[in-house]
Amino acid sequence: MNKSRGILIAGNWKMNTTRADTDAFFKTLRVLTGDEANSGKTWPEACLIPPTLSLARALSLSDRLAFPMRIAAQNAHWEKKGAFTGETSGPMLTELGISWVLIGHSERRQYFAETDETVRKRAESLLAQGFRVILCIGETREQRETKQTDTVLARQLQGALPTRGEGAAAYLDGRLILAYEPVWAIGTGLTATPAQAEEAHAFIRHWLENHQGAPAAAATKILYGGSVTPENIAELLACPNVDGGLVGGASLKAESYAQLLEAGATALAK
Ligand code: PEP
Repeated sequence: MNKSRGILIAGNWKMNTTRADTDAFFKTLRVLTGDEANSGKTWPEACLIPPTLSLARALSLSDRLAFPMRIAAQNAHWEKKGAFTGETSGPMLTELGISWVLIGHSERRQYFAETDETVRKRAESLLAQGFRVILCIGETREQRETKQTDTVLARQLQGALPTRGEGAAAYLDGRLILAYEPVWAIGTGLTATPAQAEEAHAFIRHWLENHQGAPAAAATKILYGGSVTPENIAELLACPNVDGGLVGGASLKAESYAQLLEAGATALAK
């Protein structure tokens, strides 16, 4: 299998996991994966996205694993400081040692009035501050059923992707990662079929090719998210344009997250 962009397995913990849960997760993950340190196995890139108050704990535990584990925030504001009650800024995350951020998750769009414009502002600012950014897009069930998937994806790409500053360079150096997450598949147990996922990913890559150029399109990782499990991840990773997974529910237990990493390692070895 040619996974020239590598594979990224990112676990979004949403508003789950206390500090005690975080401790227990890393303890088990270390037991499950620790022995592999000298086995010569090539692991996929691993990333966990805990709630803000568990970031520091997760970060302090992440370096005791057999492979590099990135810790990402679930969101960050575009301004570096100011009167934005409840928000977290880039410099606050940097001070903590966090250099990855997830933005534009459909739950942010659905419940917190996030728009393509605010997602783009976050992307531009955070990339300019040196962050690695995972930016989510995806259609609702109604949009898919009325055959608007491509139109919606194009509109989100046009509206949310950075057009200024570090944006252009970030495609080339892999700092901007896209996540295709059909809203109807998130937390529902419904997964896009590999054919549906590949069709959407190919559309996104083609759009990038037309708007950012072939090298940027070839360098950009596109993750699939929506009820990914240890049982279905292999067939999703087998799709040429799927470069990893953004996983909610199945990333909450160390056992299933370890299985997702194992599946990533297997796909890389093929
Ligand atoms: C997500 O949180 O982005 C997600 C895809 O969740 P789940 O895997 O539970 O569907």
